[in-house]
Amino acid sequence: ELKESEEKYRYLVDNLNSGLAIYSLDGEILYFNKKAIENTGGKLDDYLGKSLLVCFEDHGQNYINRIKEVAKSDVSLEYEDFLQTINGDKYFYSIQTRIKDINGNVTGVQVLVNDITEKRLAEMELIKAKEQAEESDRNYKLIFNSTETANSVFDKNCNLILQNKLSQEYLGLGEEDAIGKSVFEIFGQEAGKEIYERMNGVLNTGISEIFETEFDLPSGTNWFRSTYIPIFDENKTTKSIQVISQNITEIKNTQLELIKAKEQAEESNRLKSAFLANMSHEIRTPMNGILGFAELLKSPKLSGDEQQEFIKIIEKSGNRMLNIINDIISISKIESGIIETNISDVDINDQLHFIYIFFNPEAEKKGIQFTINNNIFSSNFIIKSDKEKIYAILTNLVKNAIKYTDSGSIELSCDVVDNEIHFNVKDTGIGIPLDRQEAIFERFMQAEIEDRFARQGAGLGLAIAKAYIELLGGKIWLESEEGAGSVFSFSIPINQLNENNVIVNKTIPEVQNKLVSNNLKILIVEDDEMSDLLLTRILSEYGYEFLHAKTGFEAIDILHKEKDIDLILMDINMPGLDGYEATRQIREFNTDIIIFAQTAYAMKGDKEIFLEAGFNEYLAKPLNRIELLLTIEKYFGN
Ligand code: ADP
Repeated sequence: ELKESEEKYRYLVDNLNSGLAIYSLDGEILYFNKKAIENTGGKLDDYLGKSLLVCFEDHGQNYINRIKEVAKSDVSLEYEDFLQTINGDKYFYSIQTRIKDINGNVTGVQVLVNDITEKRLAEMELIKAKEQAEESDRNYKLIFNSTETANSVFDKNCNLILQNKLSQEYLGLGEEDAIGKSVFEIFGQEAGKEIYERMNGVLNTGISEIFETEFDLPSGTNWFRSTYIPIFDENKTTKSIQVISQNITEIKNTQLELIKAKEQAEESNRLKSAFLANMSHEIRTPMNGILGFAELLKSPKLSGDEQQEFIKIIEKSGNRMLNIINDIISISKIESGIIETNISDVDINDQLHFIYIFFNPEAEKKGIQFTINNNIFSSNFIIKSDKEKIYAILTNLVKNAIKYTDSGSIELSCDVVDNEIHFNVKDTGIGIPLDRQEAIFERFMQAEIEDRFARQGAGLGLAIAKAYIELLGGKIWLESEEGAGSVFSFSIPINQLNENNVIVNKTIPEVQNKLVSNNLKILIVEDDEMSDLLLTRILSEYGYEFLHAKTGFEAIDILHKEKDIDLILMDINMPGLDGYEATRQIREFNTDIIIFAQTAYAMKGDKEIFLEAGFNEYLAKPLNRIELLLTIEKYFGN
C-alpha cells in the first residue's frame, strides 16, 4: 500500500507542469522532475547525483549560497533567474523551501521552478516601447519648443491646452497663466472673436488654413502668418487645433517699404513728366523773349524808345529765367536735405512793409486792391527766425495771389495766436478745386486750369513755401472755393518775443554814384568772353584800369609782372588752373591783394568755403551790379 501510494505521488510529481528539484544542503542534485529536465534542456543523467557547481558552472555557486539561505528560513523564498540553455535564453521563477526529516532536521531544499520567459520578454518589450515613447515625446517637445514659430494647441472650445516657449514670450503669459484660457481671454474681445471664428471654420471643415494677421501684443505690434491645423481623434472628427505662427513683421515691413518705394517711383515718374512739361514751357518762354528781342535789337532802324522797350523785355525775361533757376535750386536743396535755417532777429512789420512796397505796383497794374491788415500793434515786433525764408514764403504766396486773381482784392493779414504768428494771404481769385488742394503743395504740381501755361510758373512756389514753413516749425493750410478765392495761411512759432531791444537798421544803403578812388587797377580772370565784357562794361563807368586773364596760370603770370594791381575778380571754373587753386597759389606770394570770387555755382553755404580758400569776398553770378559796386566800395571806399 505504501509503495502504491508512493508510486502515485511520484507519478504526480514527475509529471508536474512546473519544474521540481531537490538539492542536498551541500548542493548535490537529489531529484529533477521531467519539467525541470525540460527547463534546463539536458538529460536526467546529466544532473542526478551531481553537484550544482558542475551542472550550472557560473551560476552553481550562487545556487549553493541560496540553499544556505533557504535552509535558514522558516518560510519559502522566491528567486528569479536568467539562464542560457540549449533551448535558448530562459527566465525562471522559483519558490524554494527547506526540507526536514522526521526529527525536524533540515536535510535539503526543494525548488519549484516555472518558466516565465514569455511573460518576461513581453514585459521587457513593454518597457522598451515605453522608453521609446518617452524618448520621442522628449524629441517632439524639443522641436515644439525650439522652432522659430510660436506653437500652440487649442481644444474644441478654443481654449489653450498647450503652447511653446516662443508663444508664451509673444503673449507675455507664463505657461501657468495661459493654459485653459479662451482665445478671448488671451487676445482680447476683438482679436479673440476673429480667431474664434477662424478656429471654428477649421474645426468644421477639417481643412488647414493660413492667415496673416497683425496683433497688438505685450511684445509689441507684430505681423504673424499662422497655420491652423486640425487634429483628429480615432473617429476622424476634429478634436483640437494646432496653430503654428511665424512672426513675419520684418518681411511685412520690407514688403510695405517696397510698396511705398514702388509708389514713390511711380509718383516721381509722374512728377518727372509734370516737371518736363512745366520746365519746357517755363524755360522756353523767357528764352523766346530774350532771343527774339535780342534779334530785333540788331535792326538799325529802331527808335531809341523801341530799343529801351526791347531791352526791358530781355531783362524781364532774364529775371524770370533766374527765378525759375533759383526755385529749382531751392527745391533740390530741400530734397537733398541740405537746407539750413539762418536764425536772426526778424522785424515782422518790416517784412510786411517790404512785401507791400514790392508787390503793390504789380497789383495796381492788374487793377487789384492790395491791403495789409497788420494786427500786431507793437511797432517793433521782433522774433527769432529766418528772415530770408519768411520773406520767400510771403513772396511766393502774395505773388500767387496776384497771379491767380483777375479782379477784386488781396489782403495780407497777420495775427499773434498763442505762441505763434499767423499770416493769411486772402484773394478773390480763381480758387482751387477741392481735389487739388492737397496736390498743389507738391513740387511741380499745379491745379488743372485751362490757362495754366498763360499764368507762368513751374509749380514750385508752394512746395518751397511749405518746406520752409515746416523747417521753421510752422504749418501751412488752405481754404479755397473754386471761382470765389483762396486763403493761404501759415504759422510761425514765436521763439523769442523781443519787443524793445534791437533797433533794426531799416535804411537800405544807397549806392553812391561817384564811387571812391577812380584809379583802381583791376585784373579780371574769366574764361567766358561775355562775362568778362559784362564786368568791364559795368565797371568802366568809374574810370578803372583793367587787365584780363583767361586762366589761372595767366593771372599768376600777370601778377608777377604787374605789381600795382588792387583787385582781382576771379572766376572759379576755368580750364587748366581753376580759380580756387590760382587763389591758393597767389596767396603764397601775395596776401594783401583783394580777391573776389565770382561764380555761377550759386549755392548758399559755399561762401564760407570760398573765404577759407583765400578769397576776400564771394559774388554769385549773374552779377548784381549794385552788389558788386557796394562790395568794391567796402574795400576801397573812403
Ligand atoms: P506755380 O504758381 O508756379 O504754378 P505754385 O507751387 O506756387 O506753382 O502753385 C501751385 C499751383 O497752385 C498753381 O499752379 C495754381 O494752380 C495753384 N495756386 C496757387 N496759389 C493759388 C491762388 N492764390 N489761387 C488759385 N490757385 C493757386
